[in-house]
This record gives sequence, structure tokens and C-alpha cells, in this order.
Amino acid sequence: MNQAKQKEPISSLWDDSKAAQMNEPELLLYRSNLLGSDLRITNFGGGNTSAKVLMADPLSGEQVEVLWVKGSGGDLGSIKLDGFSTLYMDKLYALKQRYRGLEHEDEMVAYLPHCTFNLNPRAASIDTPLHAYIARKHVDHMHPDSVIAIAACANSKELTQKIFEGELGWLPWQRPGYDLGLKLEQVSKNNPQLKGIILEGHGLFTWGDTAKSCYETTLAIIKRAGDWLDANVAQPSFGGAAVQPLPPEQRAEFAARLMPLLRGKISKDEFKLGHFDDQDAVLEFVCSRDLQPLAALGTSCPDHFLRTKIRPFVVDFDPSRPDFDKLVAGLDDALEAYRADYRAYYERCKRSNSPAVRDANPIIYLIPGVGMLSFAKDKATARIAGEFYVNAVNVMRGANGVDKYVGLPEQEAFDIEYWLLEEAKLQRMPKPKSLAGRIALVTGGAGGIGQAVARQLLQEGACVLLTDIDSEALAAAQTSLAKVAGKDNVASVVANITGEAAVDEILKASALNFGGVDLLISNAGIASSAPLEDTTLEVWNRNQDILVKGYFLVSRAAFRIMQQQKLGGSMVFVASKNGLVASAGASAYCTAKAAEIHLARCIALEGAPHGIRVNVVNPDAVIRGSRIWDGKWKQERAQSNKIGADDVEEFYRQRSMLKLSVLPEDIAEAVYFLASDKAGKSTGNIINVDAGNAAAFTR
Ligand SMILES: [Zn+2]
Repeated sequence: MNQAKQKEPISSLWDDSKAAQMNEPELLLYRSNLLGSDLRITNFGGGNTSAKVLMADPLSGEQVEVLWVKGSGGDLGSIKLDGFSTLYMDKLYALKQRYRGLEHEDEMVAYLPHCTFNLNPRAASIDTPLHAYIARKHVDHMHPDSVIAIAACANSKELTQKIFEGELGWLPWQRPGYDLGLKLEQVSKNNPQLKGIILEGHGLFTWGDTAKSCYETTLAIIKRAGDWLDANVAQPSFGGAAVQPLPPEQRAEFAARLMPLLRGKISKDEFKLGHFDDQDAVLEFVCSRDLQPLAALGTSCPDHFLRTKIRPFVVDFDPSRPDFDKLVAGLDDALEAYRADYRAYYERCKRSNSPAVRDANPIIYLIPGVGMLSFAKDKATARIAGEFYVNAVNVMRGANGVDKYVGLPEQEAFDIEYWLLEEAKLQRMPKPKSLAGRIALVTGGAGGIGQAVARQLLQEGACVLLTDIDSEALAAAQTSLAKVAGKDNVASVVANITGEAAVDEILKASALNFGGVDLLISNAGIASSAPLEDTTLEVWNRNQDILVKGYFLVSRAAFRIMQQQKLGGSMVFVASKNGLVASAGASAYCTAKAAEIHLARCIALEGAPHGIRVNVVNPDAVIRGSRIWDGKWKQERAQSNKIGADDVEEFYRQRSMLKLSVLPEDIAEAVYFLASDKAGKSTGNIINVDAGNAAAFTR
């Protein structure tokens, strides 16, 4: 949510001419997408919507009332019609006879599939009874920061009455479930004048007789809450500023230095990916006097702490006397204290049937003067966790501005975090991919081999930072890869790997975007061809600069980060058959490639004690998709082999032992193998991917 958007008033985007063409399920979808498009109305993945619609029963043909309600998972902003579950209302009413009381409410979830209308495969969510029993056709349930702020005040009930003057009801905190559905039914039936209900410590229910009136009521209530909070601020946010933020470049510098160190300390059991956020709302909070006590209170809305853990980790750091080394020196003890605290919370609150304690490491890291880091098993989850903590910060600001913020009681938080239904959801998640949580840096990332490698690493679950000297081609590569693998997982930085400072910037980008680096694919390349007597010093130096110096600089920088992380690592050099086999008319290129291969072996020696493996893939004649083969080199090779430029591919195919063309995807397959744990016991090795060339056999 950018700052400019935050300042625009929340206003209706409803278009009557569009709506006139829609049936009831489509109107529900339209309303849901509008609501989900603004993070001030509901947080990512949070909230749900419903409509009770008369439809023809597929068996009897009779008109029956069907509840359309957002199904389990998904986000309102992007939901489609198949994201809704559909249930017979009469069967949902029949469920009431099955209900055995609060102690048994979880078993009601298993009955929901029996109410399914029209064999809809979308699983009904835990919130289904909350929508079903409210005696109105259209119901919205949102998690707006402004309303949660009121819901999280010590005097939430009185404030609700005061602000909404009897238009909204109020229910005390209760975990969402069947029983809360029955309570909502009672309040909505007994108070027909209500437009909705605030749930303490949770969020908002609103309703209407048409899709449009429901939508507009939801918006009006959220706007009224926000306006009231703004107009009634009685005290400075978070007790006012205690310290000043560092300048933006220094914040980024600091985060990039800290992230690999931190990542190493929390990734022992599962590789984590990081996200850095220093937006104004975050800086205001981390620089405030009340940072420590407010952070300790924990978050309120269940959505918030499921994503962020009940409490964040506050890094001991004074930006007015920045001392990075002191911070790092204290980090191990501070993290151990956090983990011990989390385990103690588990022991205090666990029940006889609770799932085993989960990873005790923090998710959210608050650094005074610098900003917020978040770490999770994948990049999107880390980013979204950060966004949820910003929601929590907004809630605390709103509540403390007018009253006193209260977090959720610890036992309630625990019962949600370790809810058996949540655990079942986690158990249903697909197994992580082979490179899940890994960060790969691919140099020459805009070229044919570079893109093919990146695509395969992404498919196997890694995040990829592409770097290349060609900014246009790099942007195009990033866009096309992001389409397949998601925007969160691909980043890029334009850089020339022959400069020391430029290489430092590449590794900084890797740290800042993802948290460090695990896999280095050194692939940036050029080629040249000339008889010795015509090889200029300039050509010689260019080959040495890119293929030797460049590989050295990137390896050294990545090696340093890998050493800091203490998580091992894997480097793969994309070299060439010409590094093993002398070739006439290309001495500058062949010599540089030989040096590259030997550099890999030297690093393999030094890397082994740190669990850093280094291996080489030798392609030969990868012509398709190659920018090296596009221009002069192709002409030169054609001339030197006395063939036409169009015959080059066929020439190399016939020259190979297997009579096959070598494609970028073939190189990517070998790179992936060596980069991954599948090759966990290989280092200092070479794989030739050249369709067979006896002269290149290693010995
Ligand atoms: Zn909710």
C-alpha cells in the first residue's frame, strides 16, 4: 500500500452499468474484487463475502436457497467464481440439530461438505456458519485496520457505541467457529436496525439486502471509523519519537549487511527468505518510545499473528551511535532468548492434543532507525508477513491514539496458532520443492543459457537474482521469468562483473531482495576468435576481464556471504569445452576458459571446509538463444570452418559424437544437478554437455 493511495478517501467504485449485466453470483464476485482491491478495506487473504441466492436444484429442478461464500484460501482481490463454495441453506439450518456445544464445535467443520450444492469442489471455510446464520441476503466480513483499531481498544464496546451511534452491534472476542455463527444470528435477528457488528480483537461484519447496498455500507463504516480515529487523536503515535531514522542509503546498506548473518542463524532447519521494509509507517514505529512495550503486547487480529507470530523480535540497536559489530555480537544470545520465550509460551499454553511445537525463530525483526525485516520459507510469505505487521502497526497507532491498545490474551492466541484445523491445513500443503528457500545468483542472466538456467532453478523452488550488462535484455528476461515463477521470486540488477564495486552492488542486491546467496551460477560470457598474430591486447584483456577477473570477483563476493551465512553453498561455472581442448584461432578465449575452470577447482579446495561446493559445466556449440553466437563469432567460426553462417548449427551437430544439437535447456539441467543437493557429494567436478567430444574427455 503506497502512501499516496493511503491518503485518497475510500470511495465507492461501484459501476451500475457494469452491474446491470450481472446475475447474483457475478454481483458477489464483482463486490468481492472491489473490496479486495484496497488493503485499507481488508488485508491480503483476509475477510470473506457471501450472498444467499435462489437457484434451481440440479436434481429436482426446484428453486432452493444457496449460500455462496468465499471458500477456504485465496484472496478477495483476485478471487474468481470458482473460489466460492456453495451450500444448501436448508441443510446448513439442519446442522443446528447436530451441534453439541462449544467443546465440540470443531467437529461441525466436517459436516460442511454434506451441505454442498451442485458438487462444488471448493472447500467451505471455517467462517461459513458466520455468514450462513446472519439473517440477511448479503454479508461482508472485513479486516480493516481502522475498525480493528477500535476492536482492539481496551474500551472497544463503549467506543463502538459512541462512534456508530447504535448502527453497529458488538460481540466480545471469540475464536471464529460454529458458536460465533449462532451468536451473530441472535444479534442480527434481535436488532433489525443494525447495519453490522464489530467483533472484539478481530474485525467487522456488515450486511445489506442487495450486493450494492452491502458494499456501500461496508465502505461507509470503514470510512467512518478512519475519520473518527483521525479526528480524535489524543496522544502522539507510540509515545513520540525516541530516535531518528538513518538516511535511506544507510538503512539499505545496514539491512543488506545484517540479512545474510541473520538468515544463517535462523535457517538451520529450513532455508528462509527475507524481506526488507522501511516505509514511513514502519520507521515511525521502530523509532518510537513505545516500541519495546508495544511489541511485547503482541498483535491482535488472528490473521495478523498467524502470519507474524504472536510477537516480533526487537533488535538491540541505537541508530544515534550505530555499532554494527556490537549488534552482531549480541545477536546469538538475543535470538536464543526469543526462542526460549516462544517455547515457554508453547509449554504454558499447550493442550493435551496440541500439535508439536513449531519453528521457534522470529518472523518479524524490528530495528530502530533502520526498518523491519521479515523471514519465512518463501519470498511471498516473507513479504506478506511484513505487510501484516504493518497492519498490526496501523492498528496499534489507531487504538493508542484514542484509547489503550490491548493484544489478544495469550491462551486465545495459542489456541488459534495451534488449532487442529490450522494444523490440518499445514499438513495438506504440498511438499517443498528441491530448491525451496534457496537464493540463486545468475550472471549473464539475460542470455539464452542464463535464462534457461534461471527458469529451471525457479521451477525447482529457488529465488533468482539475474544480473547482466545489457539492461534492456535483462528487463525482458525478468518480465518473462516473473510470468512463470511469480514476481516475488525474480529480481535483477544491471551490472558489469569486471568492476569490484559493481560486484559488491550485485551481492548487496541479493541480500536486500532475498536475504543472501546460496547458489552462484557464473555464466556471463563473451567469445572471440582470431589467429594469434592478429589477437590484439584489447581482445586478450577483454577475455581475461570477463571470464577470469569477473568470475573471480563474483565468486569472492559470494564466497564471503556464504561464509557469513554458514549454510554451505554451491557454485557452478558455465565454462566451455574450449577450456579443456585447445582450439586454433581462439587463443585468448581458450586460455581464459582454462583459467576459469582452474579457478573453480581452487575455490572448491577452499570452499570444502565451509560446505561450499564448486563445479563446472562445459557446454559446446549452444547456438540457439545465444547472444554470443548471434554476431561476429558465428561469422568467424563459419569462416574458420569454411562453411556458411546458416550451416553452423548443422556443422556442429554432425561434428558431435551423438549427432545432436546442444540446447540451453540441456545446460540448465546439468547446472541444476550440480547446484542442488542431488550433487551434494560432488565438488571440483566437470560435466561436459557437448553431445560427445572425445578430445574433451576428462582424465
Ligand atoms: Zn476474520
